[in-house]
Amino acid sequence: MKEIGLYIHIPFCKQKCNYCDFNSYVCNDDKVQSYMDALLKEIKMYIQEYGFIFKTVFIGGGTPTFIHYKHIEDIMMEIKPYIAEAAEVSMECNPGTVNEESLGAYRKMGINRLSIGLQAWQQPLQKQLGRIHDTEQFIQNLEQARKVGFTNINADLMFALPNQSLEMWLETVQKVASLGVEHISCYSLKIEEGTPFYKLYQQNKLQPIEDELDREMYHKAIELLKKHGLEQYEISNFAVPGLECKHNLIYWENKEYLGVGAGSHSKIAGVRYGNHRMLERYIEHVDKGNYPIDEKNVIGHEEDMWETIILSLRLNKGLDVLDFNNKYGVCFESKYSLPMEKLLKGGLVEISDNHVRLTSLGSDLSNSVFIEFL
Ligand code: SF4
Repeated sequence: MKEIGLYIHIPFCKQKCNYCDFNSYVCNDDKVQSYMDALLKEIKMYIQEYGFIFKTVFIGGGTPTFIHYKHIEDIMMEIKPYIAEAAEVSMECNPGTVNEESLGAYRKMGINRLSIGLQAWQQPLQKQLGRIHDTEQFIQNLEQARKVGFTNINADLMFALPNQSLEMWLETVQKVASLGVEHISCYSLKIEEGTPFYKLYQQNKLQPIEDELDREMYHKAIELLKKHGLEQYEISNFAVPGLECKHNLIYWENKEYLGVGAGSHSKIAGVRYGNHRMLERYIEHVDKGNYPIDEKNVIGHEEDMWETIILSLRLNKGLDVLDFNNKYGVCFESKYSLPMEKLLKGGLVEISDNHVRLTSLGSDLSNSVFIEFL
C-alpha cells in the first residue's frame, strides 16, 4: 500500500479576513453539512479504490475548528484505520473557535498537532487584518490545548503588515516564542488581487511597507527565534529541532500527497490533480459518484526536476545533489552549470557537502534564484 500525505480542506470561516484569497467561504449550516457529506464520500472513494496509508494528515482551511467538531470526528473515524502509526496529524485552528471541550475532543480523536493562526500580537493589527479574535483568546486557547495534551503546537504569524513597525513585529515574535510553542511560521503579507486589501491598495488607502523594512523584519525574526530555540528549517518556518512539520516537508521534498476537498491538489505517480474549487461543483461531482477532479496534468521530467530544485532550496538543508542525480539519472553539476555559475558568482547560493543552499541574500531574492533554473 502506498504511503502518502493527506490534506483535507475545510473551506469555512466565520468571516473573510481582509487579505485572504484562500478557498474559504462564510456559509450556513446546511451548506456545511452537504459539503462535509461530500468530503467524507470523496475520502471513502480514494480509500476503497487505492487503499493508501497516510503517513501525515493535515486538516486545513478555511477554519476547520469553526464547524462543529463532530464533523471532524466523522472524518477522523473514517481515516483512522489508514493512518500510519506515530503519524503527525495536524489541524489548523483560529483563536476563539475552540474551547477546552472541543480541544479535548480533537485530541481524543487522534489529532496531535495544532496550528493556530494568530498573525499579530497587537489588536489594532488584528482588526486591520479582519481577524475574528484577540490575543487573550489565543493565550487562553493555547493554555487549554496544553491542558488537554497537545505537545506540538504551531503559531502562524505575519509581517510586513501596513502600519506595523519593526518593534510591533518583534514584540509579536518575542511574546509568542516566550509562550513556548514548538513551531512558528512567519509569512510576509502579499496583497492579493480580489481581496479587500487589494481594493484599498488600488485606491491608495493602503500603503505596503518598504522592501527594506520587510527584509529587516525577516532577518531580525530569524535571530530572535533562534534565541528561543526555534531553528529555521525552511524560508518561512521555524521549529524546535525534531518538531518540523512533517506534512509540509512532503511538499518541500516534492513527494506524493493526496488532497481532498474543494480546490485541493494532489500529486500522485507523476500526475498533478486539482479538485473543483467552487463548493457547488465539488459537491455535485461527488454526489454523482465521480472524483471531483477539475485539472489533471502529467508532470514532465524537466518540470519535476525544476520543482525538486526550487522546493529543496526553500529548505535550510538545501538540495542534495547526489540524491537528485540518482533520482533523475542526470548530472546536476553539468546540467545546471550555467545558472549555478551565475548564482555562485552573485552570492545567491552556496555549495557544501554535496548540497546546494540559498545564502541569506539568496533567500531574500529567492524568486530570481528559482527562475535561473527554469
Ligand atoms: S481565517 Fe484563514 S482562511 Fe479564513 S478568511 Fe481568514 S485567512 Fe482566510
